[in-house]
Amino acid sequence: MEVSIVGAGLVGCLLACFLARRGHEVTLYERRPDPRLSGAERGRSINLAISERGIDALRRLGLAEEALSDAIPMPGRMMHAVDGTLTFQSYSSDQRHAINSISRGALNGKLLDAAEASDGVRVRFGHRLTGIGDGTLEFEGGIVEKGQQVVIGADGAYSAVRARLQQMPGTDFSQEYLDYGYKELTIPPKLGEFAFDPGALHIWPRGRSMMIALPNPDRSFTCTLFWPHDALAALDTPEKVRAHFGKEYPDAAEVMPHLASDYAGNPVGHLVTMRCDPWYRTLNGTLVGLIGDAAHAIVPFYGQGANCGFQDCVELDRCLDETGDDFARALELFQRRKADTDVIARLALDNFVEMRDKVGSRAFLAQKRVEHA
Ligand code: FAD
Repeated sequence: MEVSIVGAGLVGCLLACFLARRGHEVTLYERRPDPRLSGAERGRSINLAISERGIDALRRLGLAEEALSDAIPMPGRMMHAVDGTLTFQSYSSDQRHAINSISRGALNGKLLDAAEASDGVRVRFGHRLTGIGDGTLEFEGGIVEKGQQVVIGADGAYSAVRARLQQMPGTDFSQEYLDYGYKELTIPPKLGEFAFDPGALHIWPRGRSMMIALPNPDRSFTCTLFWPHDALAALDTPEKVRAHFGKEYPDAAEVMPHLASDYAGNPVGHLVTMRCDPWYRTLNGTLVGLIGDAAHAIVPFYGQGANCGFQDCVELDRCLDETGDDFARALELFQRRKADTDVIARLALDNFVEMRDKVGSRAFLAQKRVEHA
């Protein structure tokens, strides 16, 4: 079967590998130029914590080792109190159960390599989908691809494929923004070494706000602030930025020489939960489905968006197994996964309160000390 996947992000690439293994002919359409050549946008590097859910999907295609070759294991989280006290909380009593820090761009590059190396996969960069017509895909610049039988939207939270499905009566859709935004900052290496322990996801819980930091192979950390939009906007001079960090995040401020310029130069991202139901429709004879963030974008506080999208690929592969590669029936079966993604969407929202507030509370830390005694 010829299948078109819109979006060569993490999930689109992995899905292409799964479908190619089943013998399908896959064309991946990606709006950007090849990201392996152009690199990440300033302040949008995004480090991911990849966990067993995601690794399991990679392993099934023999990609886990290569995809995670640059990843840094984080077996626990390190809480930074305002007075500099550090508290390590292990994620598991088994130290092998770590989550892994990896740059989204690096992982995407490796998955693109894997997709391109798979028999039957073609990648078309510079193809921004603008519409789905009568058996056609329409792209910016007037490019039209005809004869489309199966189209899968893996084009992320602001999916153009989903937007087309939303126009059809019977498609439910909701989007829920948080009053919070996120901004990336960097902690460069300190005298050539990591400024903090690289074996942890670092968290500075500050009640309404928090900062996290994940280690990179070059011994820097990528920090992400999750703050209310008004708090992010309030720091509008270098002096205010330095003063605020000096007061609230003093141990980090000390090792952030470019803090004020990073803060001023890096964009603010939005945090949104998207829900759509159903994830598949037939449009003028073309079967159209959704996967990954296009189907269920979630806030990042459980570190499960990409992991969940990888698990989607495993589940769709299973549905194709169960239906003998009948895509219409497989996409219908795949809808059963929505119950799970609704749960993770809710857990991700709840975990924001836990991370920014509860993990640093005296009651929580006392409880942890009892558990470890
Ligand atoms: P995307 O990665 O968004 O890829 C979509 C692709 O489609 C892109 O390449 C895009 O260019 C392309 N595209 C978009 N529109 C079009 C169009 N019209 N035509 C053609 N192509 C198009 N997840 C985790 O598992 N762990 C984490 O720790 C984690 N941390 C995160 C931290 C932050 C700050 C954020 C914002 C997200 C985080 N996530 C995390 C979530 C994770 O990044 C996403 O869930 C994941 O990237 C989704 O993959 P995707 O392929 O579905 O979508």
